[in-house]
Amino acid sequence: MGKSLSFITPSGRVTLGNYIGALSQWTAAPGNVYAVADLHGITTPWNPETLRTYIIEIASVLIALGLDQNQSIVYIQSQVAAHAEMAWLLECVGHMGEFQRMTQFKAKGRGRGDISVGLFTYPALMAGDILLHDVDTVPVGEDQKQHVELTRDLAIRVNHLFGPVFTVPEPKVPTVGARVRSLKNPNEKMSKSVIDDGTVLLLESPDSIHRKFMAAVTDSGREVHYDPVEKPGISNLLEIYAALAKEPLDDIVARYRTAGYGTFKRKVAEVVIESTKSVRESALALQTNSEEILNRLQQGRQEAWSTTNAKLQQVKRAMGFWLP
Ligand code: AMP
Repeated sequence: MGKSLSFITPSGRVTLGNYIGALSQWTAAPGNVYAVADLHGITTPWNPETLRTYIIEIASVLIALGLDQNQSIVYIQSQVAAHAEMAWLLECVGHMGEFQRMTQFKAKGRGRGDISVGLFTYPALMAGDILLHDVDTVPVGEDQKQHVELTRDLAIRVNHLFGPVFTVPEPKVPTVGARVRSLKNPNEKMSKSVIDDGTVLLLESPDSIHRKFMAAVTDSGREVHYDPVEKPGISNLLEIYAALAKEPLDDIVARYRTAGYGTFKRKVAEVVIESTKSVRESALALQTNSEEILNRLQQGRQEAWSTTNAKLQQVKRAMGFWLP
């Protein structure tokens, strides 16, 4: 397996969905690249103080997970200037038509005059993130697959027009991706942008996590079994349990089938609290000192700076720019 690259946008607090669907699956293997995608965090209106808080929270979680160990790197995107510069080069190679076809853009902003230009062009920033690091595969959810395909098209176009400078990446969509749903509305995804009792935050207190699970919406009937259509609430809890305990769903169902919803919800809360305890405690300890977090990311930033700058120079030269 080649090196892998994953960025996470600081557009809200880190949720249990982020942890189960993404963060907990990331590994500190040599060559892997992780970043806080803060430049992506400003495509919609933002508050500077909140942005600063979200950046530090995500950075603390990435460090707490040990992702800056074992020759893998963690950095903050905006601290490495090549990202913004590469985005411009790719915007000038991309076509309006192909950007307008992006379903994320269509869903969020097409036809509205008051959205930022960045919301339209951010797939070029994302393409640059990937192409600067010459990665072979990019693990992404189904919703981001189209952007990796656009990245491929841009890479192929640049290679054709200016010579072979980019590795053409493949999207890798996990076959069984846990999609954690809201505890209040189990037909909706648990999302960073919806903050209510249905969204469990990775760093909230164990008491609060417990309270949210005890108040989770369940379904009619009394039996704990897996049926996402008839029993979306209980099935969501079962999936959360199975993902965190790394246990087959059937084994969990066999144990709790007749235990009653209350007992089962208490158990799920316990599994969540226990399996996230170490990352939560380390991240919260790190957050008491933002300077320390930035210092810890210094090495990742330097490595990212040198890799991305070398690639940027190669591309600029091929495109016809004079270099100093
Ligand atoms: P987002 O919070 O949408 O920026 O997503 C960051 C990462 O977390 C992506 O890899 C998502 O696929 C993953 N993710 C976000 N929410 C969920 C969820 N409810 N269930 C599973 N994965 C999620």
